[in-house]
Amino acid sequence: MAPIPGSGLAKGLAVTLRTMTRKSVTEQYPDAQPELAPRTRGVIGLFEENCTVCMLCARECPDWCIYIDSHKETVPAATPGGRERSRNVLDRFAIDFSLCMYCGICIEVCPFDALFWSPEFEYAETDIHELTHERDKLREWMWTVPEPPALDPGAEEPKELAAARKAAEKLAAAEQLAAEERAAAERHAAADRPAPEEPAAGRSATGQPAAGDRPDGTRGDGKPAAGGPPAGEPPAGPGSPDERSSGEGGTA
Ligand code: SF4
Ligand code: SF4
Repeated sequence: MAPIPGSGLAKGLAVTLRTMTRKSVTEQYPDAQPELAPRTRGVIGLFEENCTVCMLCARECPDWCIYIDSHKETVPAATPGGRERSRNVLDRFAIDFSLCMYCGICIEVCPFDALFWSPEFEYAETDIHELTHERDKLREWMWTVPEPPALDPGAEEPKELAAARKAAEKLAAAEQLAAEERAAAERHAAADRPAPEEPAAGRSATGQPAAGDRPDGTRGDGKPAAGGPPAGEPPAGPGSPDERSSGEGGTA
């Protein structure tokens, strides 16, 4: 059947009209930053503390663009009579992003969660050698790695979190027990401590005459002070009859 004249033009105009009424998907980058999906594969970050230099990522990388250097170090035995251990120490970890095809295999196979995707993508270079990111730069990318999404409601607690929570609870219980033991020891020490001695009669605690004592040997209430002359009798001194008599005898 022969095509109707002008049907092709009508179809083309229909496509134009349909497209004109749709929302534009053009990103105004770099004037506006694009809204990226949370799991965007921008660049790979390295969390060095988790890396045990097992070399799995380098072995599995289909592009052979992960470079790892390490050396062995001997760790002394933790207990007397124990065995020395050797461990790998990372010397170099680099990824050549000019070769990487962003397949994510290295991140998937890492058994120790040392590699993560970051959505950062603005690291174009004019020199291709600059696209080999060494460990310092890979570590810097870790700051741009988004937080993992929240767990589904009712999901099992991750074993790392459960272990950390149990350790924290154990530590808190041990600290509380130690504080209680310290308090009990202080209470016992206070109970065993001898009571301070009562000051001697007529003396204050400092050994000075009591505040109420008078020079004539009586107290403020008229009673004789301990060791003093009876009330009513003049105190022995230069003016006493004994002295006066001895004084007279001396001068006679
Ligand atoms: S993303 Fe793929 S190609 Fe890139 S470094 Fe990892 S394993 Fe290699
Ligand atoms: S797989 Fe993970 S732990 Fe092993 S070398 Fe690679 S980054 Fe390090």
